[in-house]
Amino acid sequence: MNDLSRRHFLSVVGRSLAVAAGSAFLREPLALTKGKFDSAYFDKIRRFHEDHDTDAYLQDPEVKLLKRVAAHLRRVQNTVGYGNFGIVGFQQMVRVGRRYSRVDRFDNRELEFLERVFYEDAGRLGFFGAKVRPSLNDEIPRKAVVKIPRTGQFLYKGGSLETYEQIKAALGDDVVLTSGVRGVVKQMYLFLNKAVRTEGNLSRASRSLAPPGYSFHGVGDFDVGKRGLGRANFTTRFAKTDVYKRLVDLGFATLRYPEGNLQGVRYEPWHIKVV
Ligand SMILES: [Zn+2]
Repeated sequence: MNDLSRRHFLSVVGRSLAVAAGSAFLREPLALTKGKFDSAYFDKIRRFHEDHDTDAYLQDPEVKLLKRVAAHLRRVQNTVGYGNFGIVGFQQMVRVGRRYSRVDRFDNRELEFLERVFYEDAGRLGFFGAKVRPSLNDEIPRKAVVKIPRTGQFLYKGGSLETYEQIKAALGDDVVLTSGVRGVVKQMYLFLNKAVRTEGNLSRASRSLAPPGYSFHGVGDFDVGKRGLGRANFTTRFAKTDVYKRLVDLGFATLRYPEGNLQGVRYEPWHIKVV
C-alpha cells in the first residue's frame, strides 16, 4: 500500500484503523509478473469466468466481511438513488452511513476492508491496467458531469459527451448508454458484488470488472449497447449485432479491452475508449 495515500485516507476519515502489517488478506497466489503473456495468460482472459491456478482469493473470514460490506453499499445506493450513486465519493458514503439509520455507520472493520481492497496491488490479481483514480478520496465534481435522460447514467462533459452525441446522431434510438461515469464507490460496489459471486476469487472478478481505482469509467470511458438486448449487451453477443457493426464502420469502436489485450481483461466490445 502507498503510505502517503494511506495517511491521507486516515486523516480524512478521522479514525485510526489498525491494519496489522502482513496480516492475511489474500490466499497466496502464484507470482504473476506483468509482461509474462504466455498461453496460460491468454487462456485466462478467454475463459475469464472460470477459476484458474494462479487466481488470488480472499481469505475465508474476509469473504464474510465482503458480503457484509457489499450489502452495506447496496443500502447506500438505495438511499441516494441508482443514478446519484454513480458519482458518490467515499467521504459522502461515510456521511450517508452516519446520517441514515436505515443505512447505518460503516464500522472500522468495514472501512479497513474497503481501504485494503482499494489499495491492493491489482497486479497481484493478474490485472495489469493503469490506476486512473489513485485515491480512495477522489471526488467527481457534480459540475463536471451531465445526467443522460432515461438512462440513470452520467457522462463527463467534453470528449465523452461529444463522442456519445456523435454516436446517437449516427445510430439513433438503436443504441443505448448502458454504463457511464462510475466513481470509486460505485466501482467498489460492482467489484465487491462480482467478488461475492466468485466466492472471493478476486482474480476472476478482475477479469470482467476493473478493481476500484482502475476503471476508465472513472475518467471518461462508457459502455453502449443495442436497445432491447438487455444483459446480453455485456456479452460477446453484442459484437454480433448491427449496432456494433455500425460502430466499427463509423470508427467509434475504439475498444479499451480488445480480444487478446494485455491488461488481464476479457474481450469487451461494448466498452468505448474515450480518454
Ligand atoms: Zn465498461
